[in-house]
Amino acid sequence: MIELRTAAEIEAMRPAGAFVASVLERLRDEIKVGVNLLELDAIAHRMIKERGAESCYIDYHPSFGAMPFGKVLCTSVNDAVLHGLPHDYAIQDGDVVSIDFAASVDGWVADSALTVVAGTALDADLRLIATTERALEAAIAKAVPGNKLGDISAAIGDVCEAAGYSVNLDFGGHGVGRTMHGDPHVPNNGRAGRGLKLRPGLVIAIEPWLLATTDELYTDEDGWTLRSADGSRGAHSEHTVAITENGPLILTQRSR
Ligand code: MG
Repeated sequence: MIELRTAAEIEAMRPAGAFVASVLERLRDEIKVGVNLLELDAIAHRMIKERGAESCYIDYHPSFGAMPFGKVLCTSVNDAVLHGLPHDYAIQDGDVVSIDFAASVDGWVADSALTVVAGTALDADLRLIATTERALEAAIAKAVPGNKLGDISAAIGDVCEAAGYSVNLDFGGHGVGRTMHGDPHVPNNGRAGRGLKLRPGLVIAIEPWLLATTDELYTDEDGWTLRSADGSRGAHSEHTVAITENGPLILTQRSR
């Protein structure tokens, strides 16, 4: 069921968005060569406690998950792109690190992700990351009343395909509200002008992600982490966006 939020409810979602943005800002500063993925998770966990927020991930146990997630952060490194379960791994020079974080504040959820390179970056990795960021930007620009959901999906697909990447449709964006995953599903490619009409009050996570040379994934032995079928690297960018009369409102906007 698609739920539309009142203007007052969207205002009430702002603290969750601001908190999620602040955690990603902090973690981005911590992504350095030698830092352990478990340390990143611990930082996010401390910030949750200090804020009195709740993790959306720690008890998360959907049908496709082998066991409850058990951590508060997704850390996906190199050939991992989504749902990366933090494990005992020290970041190496040149690693592509995606972090995805969702938490609830005052009963409202926000969800956001970013990807950075630790240390020395390869041009190919920077291009992959920049493409997901441009796709996200293009999609957000379409998140206005009167457009269709397909306009958002097509904007993502167009940017990614024009850059020479192929898009996987198995995982995409989703409605966000009291819980992390609601309707509608927001595919990362589609036909402009088709699908759900966008109305003020619709709040969605938009999350383009890409793999460098494939669109196929497999699940790691840990039961969660999704990796590229061919070992190529991945990138992921995500914001929680409210569609308002005044256009898109990026609830998880970072200040830097
Ligand atoms: Mg997310």
